[in-house]
Parts: sequence; structure tokens; C-alpha cells
Amino acid sequence: MKYRFTWILLTIFPGCIPFTLAAESDEQEGFRVSKTKEEWKSVLTPGQYRVLREEGTEHPHTSALLHEKRDGIFICAACKTPLFSSLTKYKSGTGWPSYYAPINQTNVGTKVDRQMWSKRTEVHCAVCGGHLGHVFRDGPKSTGLRYCINGVAMKFTPKPKNEIEQAVPTVRRKDIKN
Ligand SMILES: [Zn+2]
Repeated sequence: MKYRFTWILLTIFPGCIPFTLAAESDEQEGFRVSKTKEEWKSVLTPGQYRVLREEGTEHPHTSALLHEKRDGIFICAACKTPLFSSLTKYKSGTGWPSYYAPINQTNVGTKVDRQMWSKRTEVHCAVCGGHLGHVFRDGPKSTGLRYCINGVAMKFTPKPKNEIEQAVPTVRRKDIKN
């Protein structure tokens, strides 16, 4: 059905060719942690599976992590990779946990997402490929970015501020590829 829709689009709008092909070639493979569909289903809750493995979106204002104000690390719910920290979490008012930078540039990956008739930048765990959310360019000053993340895709580990290893505030806008 997806392909039939693509071909209809190509027939009607030949100009769609570059972005359609780009979207399909953005599929990433070869993540360090890899499991079959059934294996993921056995270790994730249905809600986690829908977001992490099927690129679903949780309903806004439903994640307890939205109101998490303690110091600590937000890790991938699927493979436990550290993704974000309390140091860059801020209240965006969107209903999803929001951060202005990831914990580092190697644990969080991005790809172009052209679903929903608009170009967005998808954010995923760089270790297992689990979908996390999207990043937008309307964040606070330090990076100007807003990582809009599904809370169900993460777990929170409290940690004293001085033990949060990464010097996240030093992440600059130009260091982040999206
Ligand atoms: Zn992961």
C-alpha cells in the first residue's frame, strides 16, 4: 500500500522523486543492538514497542517523565543507552519531554522524516535504532533546538548533578547534525 501510494504521488507530482527516494534510503541498518520483531515484543511493553519499533507517538501529557525534575539521566527503554540528561531538559509546553541537546553526539542519531506531508528530523537511539521522537529548530538559545521525545521510549535514572558526566551545555548548535 505504501509503495502504491508512492507511485501515485510520483505520477501526479514528478517533483516528489528526489524526496521519496531520499526517504526510502534513510532507513538505517546495522545497529549495535539488534533483535527480531518477536524478540523486541518480548522485552518491550506494547506502548514501548509501538513508539520505539513502529515510530509511533505517545499522547501528549501522558508521560510521567514530562514532570521529572530530579537530576539524572534519561536512558533508552530498549537498550539502556544514555540519551539525555536533566541538564538540558526544559519545559516546552508541548506535552512531551523536551531537551535542547542530547547527552552526546554518538548515542543519539537523526534521519530525515518526510511522513505527514512535511519534512521533519527524526531522532533515534544510535545503539538500537529505537525511534525516540523528532528535533525541531525552535528550542532555547544555547542550541536553538528542541528534542521532542516520547517519554515511553526512555527510563529515568536519578544521579547527582556532579556525576552526570557529559558537559552537555557545551554542545553547540553547529555540532548537531540535523
Ligand atoms: Zn536503544
